[in-house]
Amino acid sequence: MDQKKNEKYKGLLKVAIAVLIAIVIVNLARTALTEKSREEVSYDTFYKMVADGDVEKVVVGPNEIEIYVNSGSKDYTPLIRYYTRVMEDQDRTAYLLRYNVKSYQAATDNSGFIWDILLTVVLPFGFAILLFSILSRRMGGGGGIMGVGKSTAKMYMQKTTGVTFADVAGCDEAKESLVEIVDFLHNPGKYREIGAKLPKGALLVGPPGTGKTLLAKAVAGEADVPFFSLTGSDFVEMFVGVGASRVRDLFKQANNVAPCIIFIDEIDAIGKTRDSRFSAGGNDEREQTLNQLLSEMDGFDPARGIMVLGATNRPEILDPALLRPGRFDRRIVVEKPDLKGRVEILKVHAKDVKLDSSVDFDEIGLATSGAVGADLANMVNEAAINAVKNGRKAVSQKDLFEAVEVVLVGKEKKDRILSQEERKIVSYHEVGHALIAAIQKNAEPVQKITIVPRTMGALGYVMQVPEEEKYLNSKEELEAMIVTALGGRAAEELVFHSVTTGAANDIEKATAVARDMVTRFGMSEEFGLMALARQQDMYLTGRAVLDCGESTAAEIDKVVAKMLDKAYAQAKEILSGNLAALDKISAYLIEKETISGKEFMEILNEVNDPRKEETHEEA
Ligand code: ADP
Ligand code: MG
Ligand code: ZN
Repeated sequence: MDQKKNEKYKGLLKVAIAVLIAIVIVNLARTALTEKSREEVSYDTFYKMVADGDVEKVVVGPNEIEIYVNSGSKDYTPLIRYYTRVMEDQDRTAYLLRYNVKSYQAATDNSGFIWDILLTVVLPFGFAILLFSILSRRMGGGGGIMGVGKSTAKMYMQKTTGVTFADVAGCDEAKESLVEIVDFLHNPGKYREIGAKLPKGALLVGPPGTGKTLLAKAVAGEADVPFFSLTGSDFVEMFVGVGASRVRDLFKQANNVAPCIIFIDEIDAIGKTRDSRFSAGGNDEREQTLNQLLSEMDGFDPARGIMVLGATNRPEILDPALLRPGRFDRRIVVEKPDLKGRVEILKVHAKDVKLDSSVDFDEIGLATSGAVGADLANMVNEAAINAVKNGRKAVSQKDLFEAVEVVLVGKEKKDRILSQEERKIVSYHEVGHALIAAIQKNAEPVQKITIVPRTMGALGYVMQVPEEEKYLNSKEELEAMIVTALGGRAAEELVFHSVTTGAANDIEKATAVARDMVTRFGMSEEFGLMALARQQDMYLTGRAVLDCGESTAAEIDKVVAKMLDKAYAQAKEILSGNLAALDKISAYLIEKETISGKEFMEILNEVNDPRKEETHEEA
């Protein structure tokens, strides 16, 4: 996006530079051509010149008298146009007559005026056009001078995208709906004959990074038709009317090469609803652009084989006019991939990556719940880079797991040195989480515990991996989640009798879960099955917004606080019963910095083994 903006500014900069240079050059030339060849003489010199017979004729204008010198003149050269300023002089005509000098009245000053305009305005502009086209060619941009108003779609036109459905994994339903469109583009005639009406446009809807852009390209690739792609923000220019003219131009170009696909990414940028509740103040430019888009979509004949695809992650703010029949009447939802989808996506991206025998994509798939295609593609690449860095020839499972962590929590931050005391606190905190997860029966198993700080802010963390993909969470599981989240803080309080800021994130998470249970999932006794919140931006933040009266909101806060208190008490209770394990595992973690879930369970089982009568009393 930034780059496109840059290009826009670059274009404008080029125009500005060209105009500036042109003005300077033309003015220099003008001075050289006109001023230099003219020479003012005083009025008495003029009289003297006439008397000396140097003057052939004069042209009297309103301000100046131009003096045309005789070719035989010794003191003056005919190449220079002498002039003198007009003075109040009633004798001049008689005087000129006396010396046989022809005198003319200057036609009208208009010609000079037009000439002036020509010189100061038209010429520089023409020059600017010339310079601009030279500059743009040299600076590598296409377009030409009128590029500001013309669609830049040409630059984004791809004859073939080279992407096929095989490159897109895990969104089978979306692909199914798109297969039909591919067929339509292949042979529109077939549908026309039977009289079937095909959609003119389809809207791809889903969270960022789920492969919407990729799918649109795949449709073009499968249908083997040209692909015009533009981003909504490209249309929203700074000059009113430019966006609309771009749309017009885009459809004209598309019409010339049809069948083809027009893809408008981030269509919400132009397609925002015109309802004033959602848009603060009017934006004529955007509205004009949107209207143009609507009228173009209404205008073209679908039998030409033009398919308009749009993509957005904010469908709820789109203008309803866009979604009416004959426009984007199909909505194709591209969801976050499920376990199977994630594994498939990993495989697609690992196609050209050398893997060793330890790699198990199912396990990685389980550990990456919530990750989208873009994340997974990123992970495979990170893993490959990691393998190379360590001088290995193939990617191992360990590389992949490390990449998962890099994408989820950031890179290891080795230069952040924690004090001994802080390391100890972080260690107890993390083991607190892990122990509670391990002991509660509804929590996900611990995969790894670490106290190596990460670039995204965590000083340590516990990685939990579910045993299987979850589509639903039971009330018990959510409760276990809250208790686990509060386990870090509970451990700090129990062991150090003071608490730190380290639990901020945990508290936020626990509160959010508790709040959702009350307001959205109908899981509190106090409110029962009442919906008290709406979800907003479901594909982006998924944030819930309260939808109830003020007194109810206050009541909700009380219920949530009570749930958190209860969960915290439970966390402390669990840890109090496992202090020996807490001490022992924390000491081990301080020493090792990172321990696996397996090591963790071994120590836990050993400590809790009833046959052992050992007591673990470490500081
Ligand atoms: P969106 O447009 O939904 O934000 P993109 O199509 O731009 O997402 O996805 C970015 C990148 O992530 C793609 O280029 C591709 O490498 C990868 N990716 C995303 N989804 C998938 C998928 N379903 N299958 C394979 N790769 C994917
Ligand atoms: Mg995209
Ligand atoms: Zn924590």
